[in-house]
Amino acid sequence: MIEYSKEIDKYLQRLFSITRSITGNGNRETLKILQELIPLNIIEYPSGQDVYDWTIPKEWNIKDAWIKDSNGEKIIDFKQSNLHVVSYSTPLSDTLSFDKLKDNLHYLEDSPDAIPYRTSYYNEDWGFCISKNQFKKFFKEDSLYEVFIDSELTKGSLSIGELLIEGKSKKEYLISCYICHPSMANDSLSGVLTTAFIAQELLKIQDTLEHSYRIVFVPETIGAIAYTANNEYAMKNINNGLVITTCGGPGEFGYKQSWDENNFINSMVEDVFKENNIEYLTYPFDIHGSDERQYSSQAFKINCATISKDRYYNYDYYHTSLDNLDFVKAKYINETLNLYLQLIRKMDKNIIYKNLYPNCEVMLSKHDLYPKTGGALLPSSSVSALDIILWLLYYCDGSMNLHEVSKKLNVNINLIYSEACKLESKNIIEKIL
Ligand code: ZN
Repeated sequence: MIEYSKEIDKYLQRLFSITRSITGNGNRETLKILQELIPLNIIEYPSGQDVYDWTIPKEWNIKDAWIKDSNGEKIIDFKQSNLHVVSYSTPLSDTLSFDKLKDNLHYLEDSPDAIPYRTSYYNEDWGFCISKNQFKKFFKEDSLYEVFIDSELTKGSLSIGELLIEGKSKKEYLISCYICHPSMANDSLSGVLTTAFIAQELLKIQDTLEHSYRIVFVPETIGAIAYTANNEYAMKNINNGLVITTCGGPGEFGYKQSWDENNFINSMVEDVFKENNIEYLTYPFDIHGSDERQYSSQAFKINCATISKDRYYNYDYYHTSLDNLDFVKAKYINETLNLYLQLIRKMDKNIIYKNLYPNCEVMLSKHDLYPKTGGALLPSSSVSALDIILWLLYYCDGSMNLHEVSKKLNVNINLIYSEACKLESKNIIEKIL
C-alpha cells in the first residue's frame, strides 16, 4: 500500500477554497497547481464554441460579494465563504427591501448550519446562499439591504486539463474527474486529487504499461461534452474508463456500475473490494450521476465505473459547506487511491490475445515451454504454469480477454498475464487491438 496522506493533505488545504466553477480563473489556478504533480496540458475552449447540442458559455469570474444591513454591517461576505454566492451570479449593486431580496436567498430548512451550493450557469440570475441560522439572525421583514456582487461574464474560455500517458498499446482507458466545485472536499476535490495521484503513479511505471491512459480534468457536464466533441475520434475508440468522484468521506465504500452490468470492469472492482476484505455498496448504472452520462451516450458507450466513499447524493453534507476538511480526510483519499491503483493494475493486464497456432496444440517442448519436471504449482494457486499455458492456448481466440480467462480458471489475472507474456514473447499468441 502506498502512503501519500501527507502530500494529499497539503493539496487539499491549498485547493479547497479556490473559487471554481464551470469556467474562470479558479479552474486555471487549480490546474496549474496540479501541474506540480503531473505534466498536465491546459487546453482552452473559447466561449461561443458549439459542442454538440451545447455552447461553451461566457467565462465567469468574481472578485467580491456581500450583503450589508441597514447599519452598513456586512452580514454575508463572499470572502468568508465562496459558497455564499450562486455560481455564475450576474453583477449587481443595489439596495433592496427584504421582500425583493428574499427570493434570491437560498438556505436549507433541515440543516441550519450549512450553506448550500447553488449554480445558475445557463440562466442569467444572481443569488446568495446562506445558512438557516444566518437567515434567522440577520434578515427581517421591512428592512433594507445593500447587495453587491463584483462579478464578470465575458467572452473568455473554458479550461480543461489533459494528460495522455502512452503505454505499449495505443488502446486507451479514460480517467475523468471534474474541477468545477468551490469549497467542497468530497464532491469534486477528492476525485481531483485521487486522479492526480493515480496519474503520478502511472507515469512512474509508464515503461511497463500495456495500455495508454487519457486522463482529463474537466468541469462537469459542459467540460466533458466539450472535451468529447473536440476529441471525438479518440473517444469513440475507448471502451472503458473511470469517472472519479466523491471518494474521500468517512463513510462506506461503494461503486457505481458501468452501463453494461456484465462488463469486466464491474467484476474487477468487486474483486478489488473482496481482495481487501472491504464491504461495499453497489449502485447499478443510472442515467443520473456524473460524466459517465456523457461517456455512456449512444455514440460513445464507454463502460465507466466509479469507486466512491460517501457517494454523491448519498451523504448528508452533499452540496453544502459541511462537505469540508473536517469531513474529508487525506487518509480516506489515500485508501481509495490504493484501491484504484489495484484496479488499474488489473485493467492494464486485461488484454485480448489470439492464438497463432489454432491447428491442434503447439509442441510446447519445442518452444521451451514444457516443464522439465512436471507438476509444480504456481504460488498461491491450485494450477500449474503448464495448466495456464494450455488454457490460454485453448481460450485465446481473439475475443476472450484475460480477465475472462482468469475467471474461468479462478486464478488471479497477474498470474495469467505473466504466462501470456511468455507465450507472446515466443510469438505463439499475439495481442488484438
Ligand atoms: Zn456536485
